[in-house]
Amino acid sequence: MSENLLSSLNESQKIAAQHIDGPLLILAGAGSGKTKTITTRLAYLISIGIDPASILTLTFTNKAASEMRERAFNMFDSSIINRLPLLCTFHKFGLLFLKFHMDELNRKNNFIIIDTDDKKRVLKSMEKDIPAALLVSEISKYKNSLLTPTEAKKNAQLKLYEQIAQIYEDYENYLEKNNLVDFDDLLLLPYKILKKNENLAKQISQKYQYIMVDEYQDTNELQYRLLRLLCSSHNNLCVVGDDDQSIYGWRGATIKNILNFSEHFENTLVVKLEENYRSTDTILNHANQLIEHNRDRLGKKLVGTRVKGDAIRVYESHDENEETRKIIEDIKSLINSGENPKNIAILFRVNALSRSLEEGFNKAGLNYKLVGGMKFYERSEIKDLIAYFRLLTNSNDNFSVKRIINKPKRGLGKTTIDKLEAKSIESGKSIFDLIQQLEADEISSLVGKKNARTLKVFEASVLDLKELLSESKMKFLDSFEETFDYRASYDNLPDGFERQANIDEFYGYIRDYFIQNPNLDLKDFLNDIALESENDDYSGEAVSMMSIHASKGLEFKKLFIVGMEEGFFPLTGDGSDLEEERRLGYVALTRAMDNLTLSFVHSRFYKGKRTSLVKSRFLTESGLIKGSLTIEKQSGFKKGDLVSHKIFGMGRIEKAVNAGKDYKLTINFGGTHRDILSSFVEKI
Ligand code: ATP
Ligand code: MG
Repeated sequence: MSENLLSSLNESQKIAAQHIDGPLLILAGAGSGKTKTITTRLAYLISIGIDPASILTLTFTNKAASEMRERAFNMFDSSIINRLPLLCTFHKFGLLFLKFHMDELNRKNNFIIIDTDDKKRVLKSMEKDIPAALLVSEISKYKNSLLTPTEAKKNAQLKLYEQIAQIYEDYENYLEKNNLVDFDDLLLLPYKILKKNENLAKQISQKYQYIMVDEYQDTNELQYRLLRLLCSSHNNLCVVGDDDQSIYGWRGATIKNILNFSEHFENTLVVKLEENYRSTDTILNHANQLIEHNRDRLGKKLVGTRVKGDAIRVYESHDENEETRKIIEDIKSLINSGENPKNIAILFRVNALSRSLEEGFNKAGLNYKLVGGMKFYERSEIKDLIAYFRLLTNSNDNFSVKRIINKPKRGLGKTTIDKLEAKSIESGKSIFDLIQQLEADEISSLVGKKNARTLKVFEASVLDLKELLSESKMKFLDSFEETFDYRASYDNLPDGFERQANIDEFYGYIRDYFIQNPNLDLKDFLNDIALESENDDYSGEAVSMMSIHASKGLEFKKLFIVGMEEGFFPLTGDGSDLEEERRLGYVALTRAMDNLTLSFVHSRFYKGKRTSLVKSRFLTESGLIKGSLTIEKQSGFKKGDLVSHKIFGMGRIEKAVNAGKDYKLTINFGGTHRDILSSFVEKI
């Protein structure tokens, strides 16, 4: 069996797949079979008798994890093994770990995961003047670089950062008090637990004797340290990655992890893969041309193994509507000629670009999947339901109570909620416990008689449902809607129909979850969907649309990339990093197997206004269109030429660009720069 398994690998891939003990680094370019090699290695280890439960494989997105599971689990006969190996995202692993070991931090394991949007709301309630987005990202940075609030305070040099560090401390206390964990905690808390408990670290490391990580270039300091602890007793860590595809610098990922791997882990075997099996030669050549513009890279060899293939198409459109029309026409004819929609994808750098595409797909009646984009679970009606369910599983969850206490409307105003919260802080009890424990007249004196009555009714409903939940999950779901009339509250609202459709889908989904997983409870459901919403959601035979970040590790026969304009791609502005943008470009181009179309427009409607745009420099850098020099050639005007103008006199051309039928020249008239159309000047 093991021989068969390896027969589809090339020699270097075989060496890697058969490497059993000791650290292993597979460093190679896109489409060279890195993922194939580690999934085969996983099957190989099992085929030679290694206990599947002792193998742990980690990756970044749910979609990548499920694709790898499919690839690997098809390679061995799962009936002969009693347990499947664990193959999941870093965050899922953290979640599973915390379920078992949260008590090490003196916290209960009925914690609830909060997403970025929740995090913003918590932070907003603590601090009004500093933008929540800044707080979210700074706190995330602190956590991922393992800084405690005290250390963050000490390091702060500016007043603003002192304030942020203080909010970080308050935020951490809030999470602990309400037993909430954010996404960063899913990695940070396991690290803390293992760090302070050497025996446990040893035990876990002995449990997972073989650890593999895909896309290692995107790990950050925290993930590296966690991995170190996980493999402390054996160093059987196999990682694969590509420095040219490091695209999470903004989240603290450090390319150093992959560059220094051999120093971090002694006696590392390094395997390089140099053939690309995914893309046609044409696609590969243009991708290589693009990435060569980056200075900060190892520089790897990557040669094609496939046919030359069709030329890459570049679409130029007036605006996003024309762009969408062209792409939809193409996709329709692909599907008509027999292409399976799941082999087709559209990528974009900026999520907002999906809107016009979605509209076009809906009009054309074409099926599509938006992977990781506008998240179902981020819709407010769904978040409300989730908040209800959270309250039902954890009465300490003030955060959720505040969200739904007046939804559907019960006549409880902001003042009432503020009073309850103030009392909750003062007494150290959660809002729900307060409502429950205070006598009716005590609540009346706090919020008035009418509100007190409403709160008591609310309390009784929640308690009834809780009891029902402990008896039967299905009965609970039936009664839930009856009790709160949540769905009904959207009757006759302008967008009620769509919201009710979402609510129905959610109710259907949760029922299905309990049918599929009869042993899991509502808390498990909440935690699972929290992870899903952060990453991605993907299934079925539909055209995929996704951000380039979400497309990492995937491949599609027919690929479209939209929004190839300066500002959108490369994304420019505060904190943007051109080399990282270019790596994103490389990731995007190398997702294509057979056909690739890139598209740019002259203007887009974005953030409430129409903006004029210029095509992306990446089109030139990848050799797909000629640079502005050719414009100069076409126009007969080039940089340095002397020209004369009726009024401004003699000047020298600095730049020439397209401007409709004409050319726009930037001319230096004795120190004054003016933009003049070429038809108004004469060459000397
Ligand atoms: P990325 O960097 O994008 O994650 P990767 O290096 O992980 O790419 P894979 O996804 O494993 O590459 O492989 C790319 C494609 O090449 C897949 O379709 C895979 O089946 C195919 N492939 C890999 N190795 C071989 C091989 N030795 N022979 C034939 N096909 C191969
Ligand atoms: Mg891969």
